[in-house]
Amino acid sequence: MENNTAHPTSEPELLALEPDEPFRFACGPGIACYNQCCQDLNQALTPFDVLELRRYLKLSWQEIQEQHVMLYTGPATGLPVASLRFASRAGRHCPFVTAQGCSAYPARPTSCRLYPVARAIQRSRIDGRISEHFALLKEPHCHGFEKGPTQTARQWVESQGARAGLDASDAMLELIALKNRLRPGPLAPEQRQWAVMAFYDLEQLKDQAQSGRLPAMNTDALPPLPHRDDDHRWLSWAMAWLRWALFGQQA
Ligand code: SF4
Ligand code: SF4
Repeated sequence: MENNTAHPTSEPELLALEPDEPFRFACGPGIACYNQCCQDLNQALTPFDVLELRRYLKLSWQEIQEQHVMLYTGPATGLPVASLRFASRAGRHCPFVTAQGCSAYPARPTSCRLYPVARAIQRSRIDGRISEHFALLKEPHCHGFEKGPTQTARQWVESQGARAGLDASDAMLELIALKNRLRPGPLAPEQRQWAVMAFYDLEQLKDQAQSGRLPAMNTDALPPLPHRDDDHRWLSWAMAWLRWALFGQQA
């Protein structure tokens, strides 16, 4: 039964949404609020998001840092976190928003793909399986709920091409949980460098791994090195390597 019918709100609402529960939503040029969700932002980027933007914009890690991405240390996790630099500090506009929409649309971050859907995961203590939980974020400025087709959260994830980014972010969340459990607090400077390289600077990681200079890689605990051009596999490999290098645990 659909229970997310449009009604005016003055405060953002987060409404629980079953994976197969339909909601009405449409967005695109012509809608009165077009681009309003791309300002007043604090847009964190997962390593997968940074990789997709780098590939689309044909920028190295150093170049995208100079132009679009800030790096800081997460206060809760002690791990490096990337976020988008604002194009203007006043409106905190995304650097990719234009009057015609998102100039990086094919490589937009996972959270942009999901909006207005929010997602959390839970891992079963019994069989280790991950279950997804969804919610609908209704913000007062967003008119997308007023018309358009209905779809379910599962359908929305697929139609927005968000699945690969979510799978990669689940692997990242596992690493964060492990870090919080085994090594809370800041990383040593060398370990922080490893994390930055594994999350964001895959070219350096590939160079070091392929020349045998990467620490903690002479072990059967790691998968074989991927083909040089297979960036998605390299990102998975990097997560497995970092997990082994930091915690001595196999992925
Ligand atoms: S409908 Fe919502 S998601 Fe679409 S442009 Fe407007 S505020 Fe953004
Ligand atoms: S990346 Fe694109 S969709 Fe996401 S906030 Fe920026 S302009 Fe909007």
